[in-house]
Amino acid sequence: MTELESARPTPVLEVEDLHKHFERTKGFMRKVQGVVRAVNGVSFTLHQGETLALVGESGSGKTTTGRCLVRAIEPSSGNIHYLRDDDRIDVRAAARTELRELRQDVRMIFQDPFSSLNPRMTLQQLIGEPLLINNRVSSKAQLRERVAELLELVHLNPSYMNRYPHAFSGGQRQRIAIARALALDPKVVIADEAVSALDVSVQAQVLNLLKELQSERGLTYLFIAHDLAMVRYQSDRVAVMYLGKIIEISTRDEIFDNPLHPYTELLLASAPVPDPRRKRKRITARGEVPDPANRPSGCEFHPRCPYAQPICVIETPELTVAAPDAPSHQVACHFWQDLSLNPNPTNTKVDQT
Ligand code: SF4
Repeated sequence: MTELESARPTPVLEVEDLHKHFERTKGFMRKVQGVVRAVNGVSFTLHQGETLALVGESGSGKTTTGRCLVRAIEPSSGNIHYLRDDDRIDVRAAARTELRELRQDVRMIFQDPFSSLNPRMTLQQLIGEPLLINNRVSSKAQLRERVAELLELVHLNPSYMNRYPHAFSGGQRQRIAIARALALDPKVVIADEAVSALDVSVQAQVLNLLKELQSERGLTYLFIAHDLAMVRYQSDRVAVMYLGKIIEISTRDEIFDNPLHPYTELLLASAPVPDPRRKRKRITARGEVPDPANRPSGCEFHPRCPYAQPICVIETPELTVAAPDAPSHQVACHFWQDLSLNPNPTNTKVDQT
């Protein structure tokens, strides 16, 4: 392998033109009223050892995208490939056995640790369940030993293994969920709003734990979140989603310091300002997030965009490389070169609240 090749990031998950559509039905006869395009042509590559954040408002399709990757829900169309050693596994075509193997390598952590853990199971049963189902242990002693290791890994006392989830705080429960997710030594973890339900002080502890585990175990994260402060702390790259599409993707610093899409500017302007003494200013976006079953023409952000021009109503902008010297920065806007967007919400020249 040449020096250049070894410096190139190794892809572990390739997503190409992913779609997930749901039929909207009405009445007893379940008559189809329309189609909700929750994910509408998403493409990205996840590289080994990185954290890629998927961000966007509620209804942007980020959670649906994450669930499609492990076929927790079936995609409508598109390609997903998982790359392991020399294998290139077609996730959509995977049969039951192959899918089961894939789900050992790609695990999910969910938002709510109160509902994601069965209250009738002890920690040993909860964390040991994937080990037993996948024949990773051959005796009860081995099971206890492995569960104890996993509890230590997430900084919980192994003596807790006979207790039930209700005995633990939200942060501790999320640690239990992480231990369960790591039981099978996965390569990729999809963290779906993994700390959103926790108190801010506890969030930081869990985020630090996820970072620590990533550097110790070489994990790759797809980090689904709406909190931009958290994303800035946690991610290497950021993909911004709007109405089921990626409208901007780049390195974390480029997204936060040099946003090119008006929607990214809006998200940054809406993020909480950490210093309470600074005056809060924000962009006033026109209207609401459109109904995904009744999408606007052209650029789907145009009804809300303060920079929209007549062509935006007619022509859909493609996701294109923003500059030849920064090929990782891609944006879908007709006018990104003409706009001078503001990365700093406190400097934004708009309504003051
Ligand atoms: Fe705004 Fe037009 Fe760019 Fe869409 S294409 S984000 S409407 S300026």
